Amino acid sequence: MTDPGCLFCKIITGDIPSARIDEDEHTFTFMDINPATRGHALVVPKRHYRDLLEVPPEELARVAASAQRVAARVTTKLGADGVNLLNSCGQAAWQTVFHFHMHVIPRYADDPIRDSLRLPWVPAAGDLDDIRATAEVLNT
Ligand code: AMP
Ligand code: ZN
Repeated sequence: MTDPGCLFCKIITGDIPSARIDEDEHTFTFMDINPATRGHALVVPKRHYRDLLEVPPEELARVAASAQRVAARVTTKLGADGVNLLNSCGQAAWQTVFHFHMHVIPRYADDPIRDSLRLPWVPAAGDLDDIRATAEVLNT
């Protein structure tokens, strides 16, 4: 299941070059070309799914397992102090490539050269009534 117009499908088949760091039967991991920090990688399922809402749970689990493997590797081999896993689902959530992928972003404490990431929101107390009302809507 490949989408001929998809950038990441072409990376998986080797039609577009990438810096591969991990591969198994179901997933492929390569370096992000615009790294947020040193070692920033992307884990993708080899099959083409558009986004988080389309990827089947078993494929999501395989991607998560590969992301965990890579997270351990950036910790031991690059000396990362922490790791963020990030998925953007939809344009409104900053998704730019529509082949489901998980960002593995190594974090380095007090190291602005290797890591300039900042929390993208300012934590502030929310309106409790609104939080509870939203929970009502979401509760199954
Ligand atoms: P997102 O914005 O969450 O959809 O993530 C897409 C990511 O793909 C971005 O971080 C890009 O830097 C990365 N990217 C785009 N083209 C390439 C490429 N040819 N090789 C590696 N990473 C890429
Ligand atoms: Zn694809």
